[in-house]
Amino acid sequence: MTVTLPFDNTYARLDGPFFTRTQPTAVSAPRLVKLNRELALQLGLGPDALSSPDGVSALAGRSLFGGSEPIATAYAGHQFGHFSPQLGDGRALLIGEVLDRSGARRDIQLKGSGPTPFSRGGDGRAALGPVLREYLVSEAMAALGVPTTRALAAVTTGEHVMREEILPGAVLARVASSHIRIGTFEFFAARRDVASLKTMADYAIARHDPAAAQAENPYRALFEGVVRRQAELLSRWMLLGFIHGVMNTDNMSISGETIDYGPCAFMDTYDPATVFSSIDRQGRYAYGAQPGIAQWNLARLAEALLPLMGEDQKQAVAQAQAALDVFVEVFNDRYLSGLRRKLGLVTAREEDLALAQALLARMASDKVDFTLLFRRLADAAADLSGNERVRDLFMDLPAIDEWLARWRARLAQEPASPEDRADAMRRANPAFIPRNHLVERMIEAAVERQDYAPFEEFLRVLAHPYEDQPEFAAYAEAPPPSSQAYVTYCGT
Ligand code: AMP
Ligand code: MG
Ligand code: MG
Repeated sequence: MTVTLPFDNTYARLDGPFFTRTQPTAVSAPRLVKLNRELALQLGLGPDALSSPDGVSALAGRSLFGGSEPIATAYAGHQFGHFSPQLGDGRALLIGEVLDRSGARRDIQLKGSGPTPFSRGGDGRAALGPVLREYLVSEAMAALGVPTTRALAAVTTGEHVMREEILPGAVLARVASSHIRIGTFEFFAARRDVASLKTMADYAIARHDPAAAQAENPYRALFEGVVRRQAELLSRWMLLGFIHGVMNTDNMSISGETIDYGPCAFMDTYDPATVFSSIDRQGRYAYGAQPGIAQWNLARLAEALLPLMGEDQKQAVAQAQAALDVFVEVFNDRYLSGLRRKLGLVTAREEDLALAQALLARMASDKVDFTLLFRRLADAAADLSGNERVRDLFMDLPAIDEWLARWRARLAQEPASPEDRADAMRRANPAFIPRNHLVERMIEAAVERQDYAPFEEFLRVLAHPYEDQPEFAAYAEAPPPSSQAYVTYCGT
Protein backbone atom coordinates (compact mmCIF):
# COMPACT_ATOMS: atom_id res chain seq x y z
CA MET A 1 0.00 0.00 0.00
CA THR A 2 1.29 3.44 -0.87
CA VAL A 3 2.28 5.54 2.12
CA THR A 4 0.84 9.02 1.70
CA LEU A 5 2.53 11.96 3.44
CA PRO A 6 0.79 15.28 4.20
CA PHE A 7 2.73 17.16 1.54
CA ASP A 8 1.99 20.81 0.89
CA ASN A 9 4.26 21.58 -2.04
CA THR A 10 5.04 25.15 -3.08
CA TYR A 11 8.40 24.97 -4.88
CA ALA A 12 7.04 22.44 -7.37
CA ARG A 13 4.24 24.95 -8.18
CA LEU A 14 6.60 27.78 -9.10
CA ASP A 15 6.18 28.87 -12.69
CA GLY A 16 9.55 29.08 -14.40
CA PRO A 17 12.85 27.28 -15.00
CA PHE A 18 13.39 26.47 -11.32
CA PHE A 19 13.49 22.68 -11.53
CA THR A 20 12.88 19.66 -13.69
CA ARG A 21 10.39 17.00 -12.69
CA THR A 22 12.42 13.82 -12.28
CA GLN A 23 11.55 10.40 -10.95
CA PRO A 24 13.88 8.56 -8.60
CA THR A 25 15.55 5.48 -10.09
CA ALA A 26 14.21 2.24 -8.66
CA VAL A 27 16.62 0.17 -6.59
CA SER A 28 16.54 -3.57 -6.02
CA ALA A 29 16.45 -4.25 -2.28
CA PRO A 30 15.85 -1.28 0.02
CA ARG A 31 16.49 -1.84 3.69
CA LEU A 32 16.01 0.61 6.53
CA VAL A 33 19.17 1.39 8.44
CA LYS A 34 17.81 4.13 10.64
CA LEU A 35 14.66 6.16 11.04
CA ASN A 36 14.70 9.35 13.09
CA ARG A 37 11.42 8.70 14.89
CA GLU A 38 11.59 11.87 16.96
CA LEU A 39 12.05 14.03 13.87
CA ALA A 40 9.30 12.14 12.04
CA LEU A 41 6.92 12.99 14.89
CA GLN A 42 8.02 16.64 14.83
CA LEU A 43 7.15 16.67 11.14
CA GLY A 44 3.76 15.14 11.80
CA LEU A 45 4.74 11.94 9.96
CA GLY A 46 3.94 8.49 11.27
CA PRO A 47 7.15 6.62 12.16
CA ASP A 48 5.39 3.25 11.74
CA ALA A 49 4.22 4.08 8.23
CA LEU A 50 7.70 5.32 7.31
CA SER A 51 9.36 2.14 8.58
CA SER A 52 6.83 -0.17 6.91
CA PRO A 53 7.99 -1.96 3.74
CA ASP A 54 6.14 0.58 1.58
CA GLY A 55 7.57 3.47 3.57
CA VAL A 56 11.12 2.12 3.21
CA SER A 57 10.56 1.53 -0.49
CA ALA A 58 9.59 5.20 -0.91
CA LEU A 59 12.50 6.38 1.26
CA ALA A 60 14.82 4.53 -1.14
CA GLY A 61 13.13 5.98 -4.22
CA ARG A 62 11.92 2.57 -5.37
CA SER A 63 8.37 3.90 -5.25
CA LEU A 64 6.79 7.27 -4.48
CA PHE A 65 5.09 8.53 -1.36
CA GLY A 66 1.52 9.51 -2.11
CA GLY A 67 1.39 13.29 -2.64
CA SER A 68 5.08 13.65 -3.54
CA GLU A 69 6.09 15.68 -6.59
CA PRO A 70 9.79 14.88 -7.06
CA ILE A 71 11.86 17.63 -8.61
CA ALA A 72 15.55 18.28 -9.20
CA THR A 73 16.17 21.94 -8.45
CA ALA A 74 18.32 24.19 -10.63
CA TYR A 75 21.24 26.13 -9.22
CA ALA A 76 24.65 27.44 -10.18
CA GLY A 77 27.57 28.19 -7.92
CA HIS A 78 31.09 29.39 -7.32
CA GLN A 79 33.16 26.28 -6.63
CA PHE A 80 36.56 27.09 -5.11
CA GLY A 81 36.16 30.59 -6.50
CA HIS A 82 35.23 29.60 -10.05
CA PHE A 83 31.75 30.09 -11.41
CA SER A 84 29.80 27.10 -12.79
CA PRO A 85 26.62 28.36 -14.46
CA GLN A 86 24.86 25.03 -14.10
CA LEU A 87 25.10 22.64 -11.17
CA GLY A 88 21.69 21.66 -9.78
CA ASP A 89 20.53 18.57 -7.90
CA GLY A 90 22.65 15.90 -9.58
CA ARG A 91 21.92 13.19 -7.08
CA ALA A 92 19.08 14.50 -4.98
CA LEU A 93 15.37 15.04 -5.40
CA LEU A 94 13.11 17.34 -3.46
CA ILE A 95 10.11 15.06 -2.97
CA GLY A 96 7.89 17.57 -1.21
CA GLU A 97 7.29 19.95 1.67
CA VAL A 98 5.46 19.39 4.93
CA LEU A 99 4.42 21.74 7.71
CA ASP A 100 5.96 20.64 10.98
CA ARG A 101 4.27 20.67 14.40
CA SER A 102 5.19 24.34 14.87
CA GLY A 103 3.78 25.23 11.46
CA ALA A 104 7.20 25.70 9.86
CA ARG A 105 7.63 24.55 6.27
CA ARG A 106 10.27 21.83 5.83
CA ASP A 107 11.62 20.25 2.64
CA ILE A 108 12.06 16.51 2.42
CA GLN A 109 14.84 15.55 0.05
CA LEU A 110 16.22 12.19 -1.02
CA LYS A 111 19.98 12.25 -1.54
CA GLY A 112 21.40 9.44 -3.67
CA SER A 113 18.13 8.64 -5.44
CA GLY A 114 19.56 8.34 -8.95
CA PRO A 115 20.60 10.53 -11.86
CA THR A 116 18.81 13.73 -12.87
CA PRO A 117 19.21 16.10 -15.82
CA PHE A 118 21.78 17.92 -13.62
CA SER A 119 24.02 14.88 -13.03
CA ARG A 120 26.72 15.95 -15.51
CA GLY A 121 28.04 12.42 -15.91
CA GLY A 122 27.74 11.50 -12.22
CA ASP A 123 25.83 8.39 -11.20
CA GLY A 124 23.33 10.17 -8.97
CA ARG A 125 24.12 7.79 -6.17
CA ALA A 126 25.50 7.94 -2.64
CA ALA A 127 27.54 5.38 -0.73
CA LEU A 128 26.61 4.09 2.71
CA GLY A 129 29.64 5.53 4.52
CA PRO A 130 29.01 9.18 3.60
CA VAL A 131 25.27 8.74 4.23
CA LEU A 132 25.92 7.53 7.78
CA ARG A 133 28.46 10.31 8.22
CA GLU A 134 25.95 12.98 7.19
CA TYR A 135 23.27 11.39 9.37
CA LEU A 136 25.50 11.37 12.45
CA VAL A 137 27.18 14.75 11.98
CA SER A 138 24.02 16.67 11.06
CA GLU A 139 22.16 15.20 14.05
CA ALA A 140 25.14 16.05 16.28
CA MET A 141 25.03 19.63 15.00
CA ALA A 142 21.32 19.84 15.80
CA ALA A 143 21.94 18.58 19.34
CA LEU A 144 24.78 21.10 19.70
CA GLY A 145 22.24 23.82 18.91
CA VAL A 146 23.57 24.75 15.46
CA PRO A 147 21.06 25.50 12.67
CA THR A 148 21.29 22.55 10.28
CA THR A 149 19.54 20.25 7.88
CA ARG A 150 18.35 17.12 9.68
CA ALA A 151 18.51 13.43 8.90
CA LEU A 152 15.12 11.72 8.69
CA ALA A 153 16.21 8.29 7.50
CA ALA A 154 19.03 6.26 6.00
CA VAL A 155 18.33 3.24 3.80
CA THR A 156 20.61 0.90 1.92
CA THR A 157 19.60 0.24 -1.68
CA GLY A 158 20.85 -3.31 -2.18
CA GLU A 159 23.00 -1.97 -5.02
CA HIS A 160 26.63 -1.07 -5.33
CA VAL A 161 28.15 2.24 -6.26
CA MET A 162 31.46 2.50 -8.02
CA ARG A 163 33.98 4.83 -6.42
CA GLU A 164 37.69 4.10 -6.04
CA GLU A 165 36.30 0.85 -4.70
CA ILE A 166 32.92 -0.84 -4.91
CA LEU A 167 30.74 0.33 -2.04
CA PRO A 168 27.25 -0.39 -0.76
CA GLY A 169 24.74 2.20 -1.99
CA ALA A 170 22.43 4.17 0.28
CA VAL A 171 19.90 6.99 0.27
CA LEU A 172 19.61 9.69 2.91
CA ALA A 173 16.28 11.39 3.51
CA ARG A 174 17.11 14.85 4.76
CA VAL A 175 15.01 17.70 6.01
CA ALA A 176 15.74 21.40 5.53
CA SER A 177 13.85 24.60 6.09
CA SER A 178 14.49 25.01 2.36
CA HIS A 179 17.10 24.09 -0.23
CA ILE A 180 17.40 27.61 -1.67
CA ARG A 181 21.08 28.44 -1.93
CA ILE A 182 23.15 31.43 -2.95
CA GLY A 183 23.73 29.43 -6.12
CA THR A 184 19.99 29.35 -6.79
CA PHE A 185 20.04 33.12 -7.34
CA GLU A 186 23.31 32.96 -9.26
CA PHE A 187 21.68 30.53 -11.72
CA PHE A 188 19.11 33.12 -12.88
CA ALA A 189 21.37 36.15 -12.52
CA ALA A 190 23.97 34.54 -14.81
CA ARG A 191 21.24 33.98 -17.44
CA ARG A 192 20.05 37.58 -17.06
CA ASP A 193 16.64 36.08 -16.37
CA VAL A 194 15.46 38.90 -14.11
CA ALA A 195 11.85 37.71 -14.10
CA SER A 196 12.81 34.31 -12.67
CA LEU A 197 15.28 35.96 -10.30
CA LYS A 198 12.43 38.09 -8.98
CA THR A 199 10.06 35.13 -8.67
CA MET A 200 12.69 33.24 -6.65
CA ALA A 201 13.48 36.25 -4.46
CA ASP A 202 9.79 36.83 -3.74
CA TYR A 203 9.43 33.13 -2.91
CA ALA A 204 12.46 33.25 -0.58
CA ILE A 205 11.08 36.37 1.14
CA ALA A 206 7.70 34.72 1.71
CA ARG A 207 9.39 31.60 3.07
CA HIS A 208 12.28 32.97 5.12
CA ASP A 209 11.92 36.73 5.59
CA PRO A 210 8.23 37.64 5.44
CA ALA A 211 8.93 40.96 7.19
CA ALA A 212 11.21 41.96 4.31
CA ALA A 213 8.17 42.25 2.06
CA GLN A 214 7.17 45.40 4.01
CA ALA A 215 10.67 46.91 3.89
CA GLU A 216 11.50 49.98 1.82
CA ASN A 217 13.64 47.75 -0.39
CA PRO A 218 12.48 44.12 0.06
CA TYR A 219 15.36 42.54 -1.86
CA ARG A 220 18.00 44.40 0.12
CA ALA A 221 16.14 43.35 3.28
CA LEU A 222 16.21 39.74 2.05
CA PHE A 223 19.95 40.06 1.51
CA GLU A 224 20.48 41.54 4.95
CA GLY A 225 18.47 38.70 6.51
CA VAL A 226 20.74 36.14 4.84
CA VAL A 227 23.83 38.09 5.96
CA ARG A 228 22.66 38.08 9.57
CA ARG A 229 21.80 34.38 9.58
CA GLN A 230 25.09 33.39 8.00
CA ALA A 231 27.07 35.56 10.45
CA GLU A 232 25.27 33.87 13.32
CA LEU A 233 25.87 30.42 11.79
CA LEU A 234 29.57 31.04 11.20
CA SER A 235 30.05 32.15 14.80
CA ARG A 236 28.55 28.82 15.91
CA TRP A 237 30.87 26.84 13.66
CA MET A 238 33.93 28.73 14.86
CA LEU A 239 33.04 28.34 18.53
CA LEU A 240 32.70 24.56 18.12
CA GLY A 241 35.68 23.94 15.85
CA PHE A 242 33.49 22.84 12.93
CA ILE A 243 35.04 22.91 9.48
CA HIS A 244 32.52 22.73 6.65
CA GLY A 245 35.12 21.84 4.06
CA VAL A 246 33.37 22.87 0.85
CA MET A 247 31.91 26.34 1.30
CA ASN A 248 31.01 26.80 -2.35
CA THR A 249 28.13 29.21 -2.96
CA ASP A 250 25.88 26.29 -3.92
CA ASN A 251 26.43 24.88 -0.43
CA MET A 252 25.31 28.00 1.44
CA SER A 253 21.66 28.08 2.35
CA ILE A 254 19.53 31.21 2.38
CA SER A 255 17.89 29.90 5.56
CA GLY A 256 21.14 30.01 7.52
CA GLU A 257 21.24 26.27 8.12
CA THR A 258 24.40 24.21 7.77
CA ILE A 259 23.93 22.28 4.52
CA ASP A 260 25.90 19.73 2.50
CA TYR A 261 27.83 17.47 4.82
CA GLY A 262 30.45 16.17 2.42
CA PRO A 263 34.00 16.70 3.61
CA CYS A 264 33.16 18.47 6.87
CA ALA A 265 34.90 17.53 10.11
CA PHE A 266 35.52 18.87 13.60
CA MET A 267 38.98 20.10 14.43
CA ASP A 268 40.91 18.08 16.97
CA THR A 269 44.04 20.10 17.85
CA TYR A 270 43.51 23.81 17.55
CA ASP A 271 45.09 25.26 14.43
CA PRO A 272 43.39 27.92 12.30
CA ALA A 273 45.03 26.46 9.17
CA THR A 274 43.31 23.08 9.64
CA VAL A 275 41.97 21.57 6.41
CA PHE A 276 40.61 18.03 6.05
CA SER A 277 39.20 17.94 2.53
CA SER A 278 41.35 16.07 0.02
CA ILE A 279 40.56 18.56 -2.75
CA ASP A 280 41.15 21.76 -0.76
CA ARG A 281 44.86 21.91 -1.50
CA GLN A 282 45.17 25.68 -1.12
CA GLY A 283 43.38 25.77 2.23
CA ARG A 284 40.66 28.01 0.81
CA TYR A 285 38.15 26.52 3.26
CA ALA A 286 40.49 26.15 6.26
CA TYR A 287 38.97 26.59 9.73
CA GLY A 288 40.24 30.13 10.21
CA ALA A 289 39.28 31.19 6.68
CA GLN A 290 35.59 30.36 7.07
CA PRO A 291 34.16 33.74 8.17
CA GLY A 292 35.97 35.53 5.33
CA ILE A 293 34.75 32.94 2.82
CA ALA A 294 31.17 33.29 4.04
CA GLN A 295 31.42 37.01 3.45
CA TRP A 296 32.90 36.43 0.00
CA ASN A 297 29.99 34.11 -0.80
CA LEU A 298 27.52 36.73 0.42
CA ALA A 299 29.11 39.25 -1.92
CA ARG A 300 28.22 36.83 -4.75
CA LEU A 301 24.63 36.80 -3.48
CA ALA A 302 24.58 40.61 -3.46
CA GLU A 303 25.81 40.66 -7.07
CA ALA A 304 23.10 38.20 -8.08
CA LEU A 305 20.37 40.25 -6.39
CA LEU A 306 21.59 43.66 -7.59
CA PRO A 307 19.25 43.81 -10.61
CA LEU A 308 16.34 43.72 -8.14
CA MET A 309 17.76 46.31 -5.76
CA GLY A 310 16.77 49.45 -7.65
CA GLU A 311 17.06 51.46 -10.84
CA ASP A 312 20.04 53.41 -9.58
CA GLN A 313 22.62 50.63 -9.61
CA LYS A 314 25.38 52.81 -8.19
CA GLN A 315 23.27 53.46 -5.15
CA ALA A 316 22.24 49.78 -5.00
CA VAL A 317 25.91 48.73 -4.90
CA ALA A 318 26.64 51.14 -2.06
CA GLN A 319 23.64 49.92 -0.09
CA ALA A 320 24.49 46.26 -0.70
CA GLN A 321 28.03 46.96 0.51
CA ALA A 322 26.63 48.50 3.68
CA ALA A 323 24.42 45.44 4.20
CA LEU A 324 27.41 43.16 3.61
CA ASP A 325 29.37 45.06 6.28
CA VAL A 326 26.72 43.92 8.77
CA PHE A 327 28.31 40.46 8.49
CA VAL A 328 31.48 41.54 10.28
CA GLU A 329 29.52 43.40 12.93
CA VAL A 330 27.18 40.48 13.72
CA PHE A 331 29.89 37.85 13.45
CA ASN A 332 32.29 39.69 15.78
CA ASP A 333 29.52 40.31 18.28
CA ARG A 334 28.32 36.68 18.36
CA TYR A 335 31.81 35.24 18.29
CA LEU A 336 33.01 37.40 21.17
CA SER A 337 29.95 36.71 23.29
CA GLY A 338 30.39 33.00 22.54
CA LEU A 339 34.05 33.16 23.61
CA ARG A 340 32.95 34.83 26.84
CA ARG A 341 30.51 31.98 27.47
CA LYS A 342 33.25 29.45 26.77
CA LEU A 343 35.49 31.18 29.33
CA GLY A 344 32.74 31.47 31.94
CA LEU A 345 32.29 35.24 31.71
CA VAL A 346 28.84 36.76 32.03
CA THR A 347 29.94 40.39 32.22
CA ALA A 348 31.73 42.07 29.34
CA ARG A 349 35.12 43.74 29.64
CA GLU A 350 37.28 45.37 27.04
CA GLU A 351 40.15 42.91 27.63
CA ASP A 352 38.08 39.70 27.15
CA LEU A 353 38.89 39.22 23.48
CA ALA A 354 42.61 39.53 24.20
CA LEU A 355 42.25 37.01 27.03
CA ALA A 356 40.56 34.50 24.71
CA GLN A 357 43.05 35.11 21.92
CA ALA A 358 45.96 34.56 24.29
CA LEU A 359 44.53 31.15 25.19
CA LEU A 360 43.98 30.24 21.53
CA ALA A 361 47.55 31.24 20.75
CA ARG A 362 48.83 28.95 23.54
CA MET A 363 46.62 26.14 22.23
CA ALA A 364 47.95 26.59 18.71
CA SER A 365 51.60 26.51 19.71
CA ASP A 366 51.13 23.51 22.02
CA LYS A 367 48.76 21.67 19.63
CA VAL A 368 46.02 21.34 22.23
CA ASP A 369 42.74 19.55 21.57
CA PHE A 370 40.10 22.28 21.13
CA THR A 371 37.05 20.48 22.56
CA LEU A 372 38.88 18.79 25.42
CA LEU A 373 40.55 22.01 26.58
CA PHE A 374 37.34 24.00 26.92
CA ARG A 375 35.52 21.16 28.65
CA ARG A 376 38.38 20.84 31.16
CA LEU A 377 38.33 24.58 31.65
CA ALA A 378 34.68 24.26 32.72
CA ASP A 379 35.68 21.62 35.26
CA ALA A 380 38.52 23.82 36.47
CA ALA A 381 36.06 26.69 36.96
CA ALA A 382 34.11 24.63 39.49
CA ASP A 383 37.23 23.94 41.53
CA LEU A 384 39.13 27.10 42.32
CA SER A 385 42.47 25.41 42.90
CA GLY A 386 42.37 22.69 40.28
CA ASN A 387 44.31 23.65 37.16
CA GLU A 388 46.02 20.30 36.76
CA ARG A 389 43.86 18.70 34.08
CA VAL A 390 44.08 21.86 32.01
CA ARG A 391 47.86 22.08 32.48
CA ASP A 392 48.18 18.42 31.41
CA LEU A 393 47.22 19.44 27.87
CA PHE A 394 50.05 21.95 27.47
CA MET A 395 53.79 21.68 26.99
CA ASP A 396 54.81 25.22 27.92
CA LEU A 397 53.70 25.20 31.55
CA PRO A 398 54.96 28.65 32.62
CA ALA A 399 53.02 30.18 29.73
CA ILE A 400 49.74 28.41 30.51
CA ASP A 401 50.18 29.10 34.24
CA GLU A 402 50.47 32.76 33.45
CA TRP A 403 47.31 32.59 31.34
CA LEU A 404 45.41 30.65 34.02
CA ALA A 405 46.34 33.29 36.58
CA ARG A 406 44.99 35.99 34.24
CA TRP A 407 41.79 34.01 33.75
CA ARG A 408 41.33 33.42 37.50
CA ALA A 409 41.84 37.13 38.14
CA ARG A 410 39.21 37.96 35.54
CA LEU A 411 36.78 35.38 37.04
CA ALA A 412 37.24 37.03 40.44
CA GLN A 413 35.45 40.09 39.00
CA GLU A 414 32.42 37.98 38.03
CA PRO A 415 29.22 37.69 40.04
CA ALA A 416 28.40 33.98 39.47
CA SER A 417 29.29 31.25 41.97
CA PRO A 418 31.94 28.75 40.78
CA GLU A 419 29.28 26.01 40.47
CA ASP A 420 26.89 28.12 38.40
CA ARG A 421 29.75 29.30 36.28
CA ALA A 422 30.94 25.75 35.62
CA ASP A 423 27.38 24.68 34.71
CA ALA A 424 27.06 27.56 32.26
CA MET A 425 30.47 26.72 30.79
CA ARG A 426 29.47 23.08 30.32
CA ARG A 427 26.48 24.30 28.31
CA ALA A 428 28.85 26.22 26.03
CA ASN A 429 31.65 23.66 25.80
CA PRO A 430 30.52 20.22 24.63
CA ALA A 431 32.06 17.04 25.99
CA PHE A 432 31.06 15.15 22.85
CA ILE A 433 31.52 15.99 19.18
CA PRO A 434 31.62 13.57 16.22
CA ARG A 435 35.32 12.94 16.52
CA ASN A 436 36.93 11.95 13.25
CA HIS A 437 38.63 8.74 14.38
CA LEU A 438 35.36 7.52 15.94
CA VAL A 439 33.32 8.46 12.86
CA GLU A 440 35.70 6.38 10.75
CA ARG A 441 35.48 3.43 13.11
CA MET A 442 31.66 3.63 13.05
CA ILE A 443 31.63 3.69 9.23
CA GLU A 444 34.04 0.79 8.98
CA ALA A 445 31.87 -1.39 11.24
CA ALA A 446 28.75 -0.60 9.19
CA VAL A 447 30.25 -0.92 5.73
CA GLU A 448 32.58 -3.86 6.29
CA ARG A 449 30.70 -5.88 8.88
CA GLN A 450 27.08 -4.65 8.60
CA ASP A 451 27.44 -3.81 12.28
CA TYR A 452 25.33 -0.76 13.03
CA ALA A 453 25.71 -0.94 16.81
CA PRO A 454 28.57 1.62 16.89
CA PHE A 455 26.48 4.00 14.74
CA GLU A 456 23.49 3.65 17.09
CA GLU A 457 25.57 4.12 20.22
CA PHE A 458 27.48 7.12 18.86
CA LEU A 459 24.20 8.72 17.81
CA ARG A 460 22.83 8.28 21.34
CA VAL A 461 25.93 9.83 22.92
CA LEU A 462 25.85 12.78 20.51
CA ALA A 463 22.20 13.47 21.29
CA HIS A 464 23.39 14.94 24.65
CA PRO A 465 26.69 16.59 23.83
CA TYR A 466 26.74 18.92 26.82
CA GLU A 467 26.14 16.21 29.45
CA ASP A 468 29.02 14.34 31.06
CA GLN A 469 27.81 10.74 30.41
CA PRO A 470 30.72 9.13 32.35
CA GLU A 471 29.87 5.67 30.95
CA PHE A 472 30.80 7.01 27.50
CA ALA A 473 33.93 8.91 28.57
CA ALA A 474 35.96 7.19 25.84
CA TYR A 475 33.96 9.13 23.20
CA ALA A 476 35.20 12.41 24.72
CA GLU A 477 38.88 11.59 24.42
CA ALA A 478 41.20 13.17 21.90
CA PRO A 479 42.34 10.85 19.11
CA PRO A 480 45.47 8.81 19.68
CA PRO A 481 48.54 10.39 18.08
CA SER A 482 48.67 9.45 14.42
CA SER A 483 51.33 9.81 11.78
CA GLN A 484 48.73 10.47 9.10
CA ALA A 485 46.59 13.57 8.79
CA TYR A 486 42.84 12.96 8.69
CA VAL A 487 41.41 13.34 5.17
CA THR A 488 37.79 13.78 4.05
CA TYR A 489 36.24 13.50 0.60
CA CYS A 490 33.56 15.32 -1.43
CA GLY A 491 30.83 13.72 -3.45
CA THR A 492 31.30 10.10 -2.39
P1 AMP B 1 28.72 19.07 -3.73
O1 AMP B 1 30.21 19.15 -3.81
O2 AMP B 1 28.23 17.94 -2.90
O3 AMP B 1 28.12 20.35 -3.31
O4 AMP B 1 28.18 18.77 -5.20
C1 AMP B 1 28.43 19.62 -6.28
C2 AMP B 1 27.59 19.24 -7.47
O5 AMP B 1 27.91 17.92 -7.92
C3 AMP B 1 26.09 19.25 -7.23
O6 AMP B 1 25.47 19.73 -8.39
C4 AMP B 1 25.79 17.79 -6.99
O7 AMP B 1 24.45 17.48 -7.30
C5 AMP B 1 26.74 17.12 -7.97
N1 AMP B 1 27.07 15.73 -7.59
C6 AMP B 1 27.83 15.32 -6.54
N2 AMP B 1 27.93 13.98 -6.53
C7 AMP B 1 27.22 13.51 -7.58
C8 AMP B 1 26.93 12.20 -8.10
N3 AMP B 1 27.40 11.08 -7.54
N4 AMP B 1 26.15 12.13 -9.21
C9 AMP B 1 25.67 13.23 -9.81
N5 AMP B 1 25.91 14.49 -9.37
C10 AMP B 1 26.68 14.63 -8.27
MG1 MG C 1 26.23 20.65 -2.69
MG1 MG D 1 27.70 17.17 -1.27
